[in-house]
Amino acid sequence: MAYQTINPYTEELVKTFNEHTNAQLEAIIAKAEETYENDWSLRSFAERKAVIKKAALILLARLDEFAKFTTLEMGKLFREAQGEVVLSADILDYFADNAEKFLAPEKLNVKEGEAFVESEPLGVLFCVEPWNFPYYQLARVAGPNLMAGNTLIVKHASNVPQCALAFEKLFLDAGAPVGAYTNVFISYEQTAAAISDKRIKAVALTGSERAGQWVASEAGKALKKSTMELGGSDGFIVLDDADMDTAVKWGIFGRMNNMGESCVAAKRFILHEKIADTFLDRFRKGLEKLVPGDPMDSKTTLGPLCTKDALDLVQKQIKAAVDGGAKVLLGGKRLDRPGYFLEPTILTDIRPQNPAYYQEFFAPVALVFRVKDEKEAIKLANDSPYGLGGSVITRDIERGKRVARQIETGMVFINSVTLTAPDLPFGGVKNSGYGRELSDLGIGEFVNKKLIRVA
Ligand code: NAP
Repeated sequence: MAYQTINPYTEELVKTFNEHTNAQLEAIIAKAEETYENDWSLRSFAERKAVIKKAALILLARLDEFAKFTTLEMGKLFREAQGEVVLSADILDYFADNAEKFLAPEKLNVKEGEAFVESEPLGVLFCVEPWNFPYYQLARVAGPNLMAGNTLIVKHASNVPQCALAFEKLFLDAGAPVGAYTNVFISYEQTAAAISDKRIKAVALTGSERAGQWVASEAGKALKKSTMELGGSDGFIVLDDADMDTAVKWGIFGRMNNMGESCVAAKRFILHEKIADTFLDRFRKGLEKLVPGDPMDSKTTLGPLCTKDALDLVQKQIKAAVDGGAKVLLGGKRLDRPGYFLEPTILTDIRPQNPAYYQEFFAPVALVFRVKDEKEAIKLANDSPYGLGGSVITRDIERGKRVARQIETGMVFINSVTLTAPDLPFGGVKNSGYGRELSDLGIGEFVNKKLIRVA
């Protein structure tokens, strides 16, 4: 996989980066281990906090500089890119402020003597990360794990190399020692070799189900702890008593934010038959209003997809869905202009035998289903290989909670699309993976919960 910047708005190849050789990778792993053992893990929380807080400040001070790389490399609307940089700074700040409290020794209530559990860092972590939120995804692993005392080696996605380098430099600029956070441009084979290396103690991946299976099996073979943050096909349930303004607002945002390239995008719209026509009419009109253009331009509301491959894949998925009986209510085609633009698309009449029924659409394509009641809505939401997030839109909050409890995912939001914040645990079940990032749960994934017992 070549590490390249290709501007998805112009389709122009901007820059290519050399991959690390095996000898360079060896030196990077050795340095990460040395920094862990002789420096970073020995520092106090206050010392690590000073570095991570400085990194957050630098992100905010150079907001536009960071955000521009994102828009250039994966086509995110510039204002959304700016928002992502702020969120990433918030995550770093949050773990800088709270890590010591989250990882404080816990005294156990034992019958005799004394016992407590301490949270010790594990060592060098290997992280594989996706392009869709090129800084936020990195902040989710860097904030908690650096604060816990681990060091990180990160393989970012091959289409965002400038974002990857900017984030590595961020920690050096903030005063972190060389080896605390290192970016690598390496192949899948080198990734496998790194995971099996005895100096790597654990593995975190965010990405597709396919990459998760591969990387988790490498980690499993080497008996290393891993977390997998994988794909999703979240149900967006609109019940018969839903406030339509809320439903339409979040429906449009949920499917179109980040051009639909979000793991927790609203992907399957599960509509109670009583409100389905009203919702669909307003939802379609909202999508029709989106304005394609340069993602750097503040007037643009429809940007390109990240790569040509992503555009080709979703076009194939749409064709297969239509061949399988789906109807196109809106869009369905590539825009007739340069750049990897897809028309916002709504597909209806998708039956279980349609290939689209169980697929993730990582693009602005809404799959619409009509149900006759709450029970059928829950059944349909759960009829998915994925289990990441989901939404229930209802005026009755108790009803919303009752439905939320029956949905088999890691996160359910009532009267909102699935969102993220530093203090909310993020992660899924089923083929959406395992483990959690963010919050106190996230920082607990890669520490040794060590029992110390005084007899
Ligand atoms: P992807 O193809 O799986 O890529 C993600 C990362 O995995 C990239 O760094 C990629 O490197 C690497 N990778 C892929 N196959 C690999 C292999 N065999 N060995 C080593 N590394 C490998 O995913 P994507 O299509 O870019 O991202 C979208 C997917 O991520 C969607 O399914 C989305 O739902 C999921 N996602 C999940 C979450 C979550 O928190 N649950 C968050 C965001 C995205 P290359 O770029 O070099 O191929």
